[in-house]
Amino acid sequence: MSNPVAGPATSAAAALAPASSSPLGAVDLRALRDAVSGQVLVDGDAGYDAARGLHNTHYDRKPAAIVRPADAIDVSRTVQTAHELGLELAVKSGGHSVAGHSATDGGILLDMRTLNAVDIDPIRWVGSAQGGATAGEYTMAAHAHGMATPFGDTLSVGLGGLTLGGGIGWLARKHGMTIDNLLEADIVTADGRMVTVSEESDPDLFWAIRGGGGNFGIVTRFRYRLHPVEIVTGGALFLPLSQQVLRGLIDASVEAPDELTQISFVMPLPPAPFLPPELVGTPAIAVMPVFSGPLDEGAAAMAPFRALAKPYADLIGPMPYPAQYQFTSGGEEPSVGVLRSSFLPDLTEGGIDAIVERHSNPVPGMAFTQLRVLGGAMGRVPAGATAFAHRDATVMASVITGTSEEHYDEAVAWTEAYQAELSEGSTGVYSNFLADEGAGRLAKAYPGATYERLVQVKRRVDPDNFFHGNHNIRPS
Ligand SMILES: Cc1cc2nc3c(=O)[nH]c(=O)nc-3n(C[C@H](O)[C@H](O)[C@H](O)COP(=O)(O)OP(=O)(O)OC[C@H]3O[C@@H](n4cnc5c(N)ncnc54)[C@H](O)[C@@H]3O)c2cc1C
Repeated sequence: MSNPVAGPATSAAAALAPASSSPLGAVDLRALRDAVSGQVLVDGDAGYDAARGLHNTHYDRKPAAIVRPADAIDVSRTVQTAHELGLELAVKSGGHSVAGHSATDGGILLDMRTLNAVDIDPIRWVGSAQGGATAGEYTMAAHAHGMATPFGDTLSVGLGGLTLGGGIGWLARKHGMTIDNLLEADIVTADGRMVTVSEESDPDLFWAIRGGGGNFGIVTRFRYRLHPVEIVTGGALFLPLSQQVLRGLIDASVEAPDELTQISFVMPLPPAPFLPPELVGTPAIAVMPVFSGPLDEGAAAMAPFRALAKPYADLIGPMPYPAQYQFTSGGEEPSVGVLRSSFLPDLTEGGIDAIVERHSNPVPGMAFTQLRVLGGAMGRVPAGATAFAHRDATVMASVITGTSEEHYDEAVAWTEAYQAELSEGSTGVYSNFLADEGAGRLAKAYPGATYERLVQVKRRVDPDNFFHGNHNIRPS
């Protein structure tokens, strides 16, 4: 570890800061303002509500203060000041936490979105992003060079949470998970030090941040490997929902070449110019494949999917890689939702029946069943190589239920009952798709040996559990 940071600096602007009605109190708030050169917002300030808002609006917490750091030093000083004031610190990047962890009532929220610079080095094939950048900001910058790093399926997701939990998206079978492409990270640790962590500098900590979430520090910069990904064969294929088509979809996805990763949604057909109006609301499967390889091979790789059934709509074709994200852009809109997910060795016949049954009957709100077939490059990484242990999973099956506050409890009950029907033989759960579902489910995200090694690292770098607003690895 290197670069210890000196104590807080005083800026003229901070010295002039007005006394505030914040629960922190005027003196303490001034201490925070003195410590950082970036903005400090309290309730009532312009931008306060926008900065604390999460993608899942069910989580509505009010921090005593929000720090919008100007640089990594501000991040370090915020950590030190939170210690001094004895306040909880929550870290927010893209704000897409499924568990609402990037929020605090009465503590300090560090809004990393001010640190969103991206730098693409096309000579060394290395992309560098500050810890508050989104997948979209990086993906667009890399695409300008005909390159990409694997992230998820939604551009608004933050690289902070996505990377630290793992990162599973459209390039997973070809180029692995996001963590498989992480070269190093600049981190502010619980004692405020700024360190660069890599396989060479600190293999245990580097292992832990590849899947162990925000437990070990605040990442101010990621450096990733880039790949040549420019024009892909992608799009969406809307297929009728039946047991036979679902079985064929899973089998075709498993047998597909590594270049092809698909993410499917079982859902009612949406109103769209490419669909006859009378079909709107019909339960269907939206298959969203990406083939990252030669275009003629891409067309051939799509043939087994096109042969599954006569499609309602076929929007598959060559496109710039970022264009694939238009098919999931509807999911960027903040709303109240419930997500429950499991890794499976296969989708069983019982699971397939459950999908057809659930989607053929009324659902509370708007329910999607998301089916991802994994494997390929992602599956060839040894289970112990990173803190993401689920390399042998074939399917990730998730139920996503859009609902309202009024019907939230009902949606949770429905989603969990349905997820249980889908999860026969489940081998675990993805921490980034985990809500606060209890210790048993946390143990499913971090099974045995993974959890024990995470505890060892946590004891060394954060023995007081300062970073606990996460899927928490307790040091004791
Ligand atoms: C619509 C949607 C689509 C998604 N699609 C995918 C997908 O395709 N693939 C996939 O793998 N995941 C996906 N996810 C899950 C997503 O990866 C996680 O929710 C992730 O935690 C979001 O990261 P964030 O930075 O946006 O979240 P935030 O809510 O900002 O952060 C979540 C947590 O991550 C930690 N954290 C965030 N930034 C930092 C940082 N800079 N340093 C240290 N800790 C930090 C903190 O503990 C924080 O509580 C999706 C989620 C949503 C809501």
